Amino acid sequence: MNLTEIYRQVVLEHSRQPRNKRQLLSATHQQKGINPSCGDELELFLEISNDQIIKATFIGVGCAISQASASMLTVLLEGQSVQNALALAADFHAMMRGSSPTEALGDAAALQGVSKLHARVKCATLAWQTLEVILQKT
Ligand code: ZN
Repeated sequence: MNLTEIYRQVVLEHSRQPRNKRQLLSATHQQKGINPSCGDELELFLEISNDQIIKATFIGVGCAISQASASMLTVLLEGQSVQNALALAADFHAMMRGSSPTEALGDAAALQGVSKLHARVKCATLAWQTLEVILQKT
């Protein structure tokens, strides 16, 4: 199994069994995001206390890439400071522009191949852009 195949499996696994896909009753912040070019919709929920993300969840419908990306994002966010979360989003956007993924991106590095599929980049970045909208309000 080559790296591309491993990455494909990671993306498929997150899209079939998304982590943290539920509403969060303890959320202090929530934000909807839409990617009209594909029809992806999601709502991101964060519980933030003292500039730290305690918990992150999402709900929504969309293609496998958008769902997998949101799942990966919520896993990464738990326990991160707001500042680190913004740095992760910047790393992710850089990867979508063709940079190598940073180690901090964890499973989300599996979405690197999407950077070459221009029509799908918005699917992959939807959750991360929604995160940035929330954090700019904190
Ligand atoms: Zn999509």
